[in-house]
Amino acid sequence: MLLQNSKNLDSKCVHAGIGEYQYGPVVPPIYQTSTFKFESAEHGAALFKGEEEGYIYSRMKNPTVEAMENAIADLENGYKALGCGSGMAAIHTVFTSLLNAGDHVVCSKAVYGPTATLLKTVIKKFNIETTFVHASDINEVNNAIKENTKIIYIETPGNPTLEITDIEDVAKLAHQNNAFMVVDNTFMSPALQRPLELGADVVVHSLTKFLNGHADVVAGVIVSKDKALYTTMRKTLNQIGGVIDPFNAFLVHRGIKTLSLRMEKHSKSAQKIAEFLENHPQVKWVRYPGLKSHPQYDTAQKQHHDAGGMISFELKGGLEAGRAVMNNVKFCQLAVSLGGVETLIQHPASMTHHSMGKEAREAAGITNGLVRLSVGIENVNDIIDDLNNALKIASELKSLEKSIA
Ligand SMILES: *Cc1c(COP(=O)(O)O)cnc(C)c1O
Repeated sequence: MLLQNSKNLDSKCVHAGIGEYQYGPVVPPIYQTSTFKFESAEHGAALFKGEEEGYIYSRMKNPTVEAMENAIADLENGYKALGCGSGMAAIHTVFTSLLNAGDHVVCSKAVYGPTATLLKTVIKKFNIETTFVHASDINEVNNAIKENTKIIYIETPGNPTLEITDIEDVAKLAHQNNAFMVVDNTFMSPALQRPLELGADVVVHSLTKFLNGHADVVAGVIVSKDKALYTTMRKTLNQIGGVIDPFNAFLVHRGIKTLSLRMEKHSKSAQKIAEFLENHPQVKWVRYPGLKSHPQYDTAQKQHHDAGGMISFELKGGLEAGRAVMNNVKFCQLAVSLGGVETLIQHPASMTHHSMGKEAREAAGITNGLVRLSVGIENVNDIIDDLNNALKIASELKSLEKSIA
């Protein structure tokens, strides 16, 4: 138990959330059960009344899920966490917990496609309007705030443009206006960025990505800074029912043990790849928080512990050239999602951000030629060789086109 008190993140990743269990296992058992026996009718009644601590039913609380929740709450330096069935279930639970009909939301334009769509469709049905802003510009955020603004929702770095928002500044603004600040911390993970320490009230994650890290689980989590927010959202989650199951919680908890190691490798390789791309004659621009050319490089330096594994870039040949690269990589895999051990490449405008619509994409800076890379933990030279080769094929195709024309 002593080790759990270590403040060092790499130690925390290994030991966080692990309690004491029957027979003394080093790893929390998978309590694959929907329900728990009461010692007596009185005991059952006391549990329901909240007079005694214990387990009742796995939608409400499960020891395997709780261990994983405690690990993430510890890593984020929050009060407690709520394990959800997906990142979207977590985001939906936050909105439905904290918003009432007639409220207003300010949301960053650079945001996961389905988050924007959720606000514009499901949440809007309940008479809740959203204003989308370039959240890297504090004045734009300030100007969007209304009397009834209840949540400022930020994803930083934003998906897929990697626009960076100053969490500390926006948190101050939110609190001056009696609003909650919610941060989607999926792209960085608590190893590289801890929004609650910078003033945010709630953090959400798609656990599907870096926290689990192995592309074999869909899950999400909400971390609250205090007991009041936690209690409100726990009640809503119990009613909505979008909870994680014990086996997926076990897998995520296992993934977290290597989080610190993985984020170090993702960041180191991504830095090299971003520099390779930035120096490549066929590349128009590269966005990576570790490059000095990033428009919010100073904010990144201030609030990140490292630059992470996500890169976006555009080729001079635009969409056609980008497609040619995606169709000719052999080592990188053409698939959506991110944050796993394997390198993935995808095209946001026609894939993850297609549902947003062209106008919203353009406003968010998601050009048709933008290609997103999630850098894995393979040998970095294999990834660079693959990209180099695909870029070469793309340029040959282009010159062939020219010679035919
Ligand atoms: C994937 C993702 C989500 C949604 O998570 P799911 O687990 O797919 O529901 C939300 N935010 C970001 C930044 C993501 O990358």
